[in-house]
Amino acid sequence: MEAPRDLSSALQIMAQQPAAWKPFAGGTDLMVLLEAGRLPHRRFLSIWKLPELRGIEVTPRHVTLGALTTYTEIRRSEVLAQEFPLLCRAAAETGSVATQNRGTLGGNIANASPAADSPPALLVYDAELELVSASGWRRVPCHGFWTGYKQTGLQADELIHRIRLPRATNGWKHYYRKVGTRRAQAISKVCFAASARIDAGRIVQIRIALGSVAPTALRAVQTEKALQGEKLTPESLRAAQAVLAREIAPIDDMRSTARYRRRIAQNLLAELCERLST
Ligand SMILES: Cc1cc2nc3c(=O)[nH]c(=O)nc-3n(C[C@H](O)[C@H](O)[C@H](O)COP(=O)(O)OP(=O)(O)OC[C@H]3O[C@@H](n4cnc5c(N)ncnc54)[C@H](O)[C@@H]3O)c2cc1C
Repeated sequence: MEAPRDLSSALQIMAQQPAAWKPFAGGTDLMVLLEAGRLPHRRFLSIWKLPELRGIEVTPRHVTLGALTTYTEIRRSEVLAQEFPLLCRAAAETGSVATQNRGTLGGNIANASPAADSPPALLVYDAELELVSASGWRRVPCHGFWTGYKQTGLQADELIHRIRLPRATNGWKHYYRKVGTRRAQAISKVCFAASARIDAGRIVQIRIALGSVAPTALRAVQTEKALQGEKLTPESLRAAQAVLAREIAPIDDMRSTARYRRRIAQNLLAELCERLST
């Protein structure tokens, strides 16, 4: 394992042999694979000490988090609690205190698990990722970054540098629910995040995203369209539930069944609409 002290040294190492070096942040996903003998890599690049990947920066239009921001840091951030509560809820629902102290937001994004807890919140907030390599940097939306099961648009010589959240959620109502086998230390069967702006009982704007119901975290754009501009009535809910059932593609696996996941996703949509109407 190499542990460079600054970002440019790390990027130089990656540029020389891009596929050979596996970035290693908090290690909470990687150590599980290593212990299970399922990690093929032999060279690890610890990015834990890179100061450029740390910190939460607040500007008038954005809140930008370094990729190494831990769940504990997210939970302690006042600006995130006020403006991006779904991300704080996701952080609070992630693993145990130990995992929250060590696990990073960048690691959760790069790991690309469809069952991860932060991606639905990031999708709802239209988060963007700043990716960096020795040859430059680029900004990409989270929406579209996860290209398939555990697949991302990250190049072999790139790191996630920062996560940028647009500060445009004033007056929105927020909803987050993780359904798992237990209240804590469980991987989600369904994870549901949403934000909406309501005026006189009508949905002016709504964003919905789910985890564990498709090969990637999913922004439910069709369901959003079905609800946008609608009054919160039993009829509009039923129509949106039907759209949601078609939009998601859950599977049977060791944690749950496709049928249960579809039903729960619909029930969570109902709970969201109930909360929005109060
Ligand atoms: C006991 C336990 C409970 C858990 N519970 C949950 C849970 O409830 N919800 C949940 O979502 N997750 C959970 N996890 C998974 C894990 O904690 C998170 O995914 C965490 O955010 C990973 O971050 P990390 O820094 O530890 O990543 P690492 O393990 O260091 O890396 C994970 C992957 O991301 C890549 N990577 C990391 N940082 C970068 C970067 N900046 N740029 C490019 N690639 C990068 C690595 O190469 C690797 O492929 C749990 C893990 C454990 C061990």
